[in-house]
Amino acid sequence: MKHKILILLLCCLNGFTAFSIEEKPKLIIMITVDQMRHDYIAKYWDRYTEDGFKRLVNKGFSFDNANFSYVPTMTAVGHATIGTGTTPVHHGIAANNWYDRITKKEVYCVSDSTVTSVGVIGGDGLHSPRNLKSNTFTDQLKLSSPKSKVFGISLKDRGAILPVGFSADAAFWYSNKKGHFISSSYYMEELPNWVNSTNAKKRVEAFLQTPWSTLYPIETYTASSQDQADFEGVFNGETTPTFPHMLPNLIKENGLGLIKGTPFGNSLLANFAKELIVNEELGSDEITDVISISFSSTDYIGHMYGPQSIEIEDTYLRLDLNLSNLFEFLDQQIGEGQYTIVLTADHGVADIPAHVKGSVDYYDYNGFKDAILEWSNQNYGLNLVEEITNNQVYLNYEAITNQQLTTKEVKEELLQFLLNYPNLTSAADMIGRVCIGDAAVCERMYNGFDPKRSGDVFYSFQAGWLSDYYQKRGGTGHSTGYKYDTHVPMIWYGFGINAGREMQEVAIKDIAVTLSDIQSIPYPNRATGNSLLPHLQK
Ligand code: ZN
Ligand code: ZN
Ligand code: ZN
Repeated sequence: MKHKILILLLCCLNGFTAFSIEEKPKLIIMITVDQMRHDYIAKYWDRYTEDGFKRLVNKGFSFDNANFSYVPTMTAVGHATIGTGTTPVHHGIAANNWYDRITKKEVYCVSDSTVTSVGVIGGDGLHSPRNLKSNTFTDQLKLSSPKSKVFGISLKDRGAILPVGFSADAAFWYSNKKGHFISSSYYMEELPNWVNSTNAKKRVEAFLQTPWSTLYPIETYTASSQDQADFEGVFNGETTPTFPHMLPNLIKENGLGLIKGTPFGNSLLANFAKELIVNEELGSDEITDVISISFSSTDYIGHMYGPQSIEIEDTYLRLDLNLSNLFEFLDQQIGEGQYTIVLTADHGVADIPAHVKGSVDYYDYNGFKDAILEWSNQNYGLNLVEEITNNQVYLNYEAITNQQLTTKEVKEELLQFLLNYPNLTSAADMIGRVCIGDAAVCERMYNGFDPKRSGDVFYSFQAGWLSDYYQKRGGTGHSTGYKYDTHVPMIWYGFGINAGREMQEVAIKDIAVTLSDIQSIPYPNRATGNSLLPHLQK
């Protein structure tokens, strides 16, 4: 008898039920924090509350070496990977914008000319998941369990659409023009009533009526560098990148898109998530529903001020409060232990070169592009390059054939030229599968290649180096295959998840596969990730 009680106690100490074929969570919440590096958990740990990030880490399962396994590490690519459980070579979302050889124009990852905007007049809603080449975890869920409800929300269209894929009930994103949430005719003919009434509350205008001041006294932000720094960006109409950011004075010049560059963009989205869960009755029965929530303001703020700024510290402290509030809401609405959360990011970000000691600097981006064209003109007497974008070179096949050259020989010479260029350390011929340089970066280049959408040659500058675009406008960026861009959080929490920590390297593409195993359903149709379920249930 005593033994039985002991076993009973042991099994239930963690509080949550294990997954089984019969038992599923009522709601799965996929949280993506745009541009969140893994180190932000430890960096601000002492300043987080017990109920936000700490609740996930302390009571959930954290994979502390989770990485993206491709380049370019960008928003669209990351969100597609989270949804599909694979890399661009299979899911086709090869960048935020890629060059199309047929139309000779840039294509935006979620652009769709066959749909119309819903909730706004104009271009903000002309989006759908049509460019994805793989389906997603939630597409498979809908196939296996048609009554499951699936929603994706974000301030960014691509952040809302790509994680949930083709058969979501809806995706909603933010319109700068209207200052409210919209969608596209891919999902619906008109906005649901509850979205219209939420939009009518004019929350954005209300948020922007107060300046953005630090949450705590500014001298307590000791994890960050000083507030005033020449290499930080500023809003239009602002003269210094310092607190308080006088939002009410900045609306005129920046429009209602201003909120995206403040922590209040995250509060707006968290509010919207709660309203969605109530109004669409998510998690209200035994059939598993899914909501994907992608917080975007962290990315806009990170770009403008960088990882060492007081602005980004303040943003994470406030996001921690948003999360704590959301989790409390979920406990009440769905029930503690009845829902499963996975929190991750879509990519990391580079430190601002001024903060990094060593041979890290900006390179002259236009000078570099000009040098490639000059190389072509000098070698061949004309320009054989059609486009340079996303650290990729697209060759002009027609010009090469006209010169009675082969792309193979041109690529060979281009690789030589690139590898001789100052501070450029890796370059690859994607079709010929010749890559010279950092082997880990080469591997990520191959994983990031889509034959129709990517360039012929990929290149990578030395770790830490940034385009001088960021020197001119201030701030920093991401897209490389280096750790600062690939290493992000992956934390699981709630129904079926044991507490724990794993240092072994895992990939973000493992998330969709693991979610599929949680639901005992088929993997997304091009998935290449591995299931992490055995770790979570140890
Ligand atoms: Zn992003
Ligand atoms: Zn500042
Ligand atoms: Zn970004």
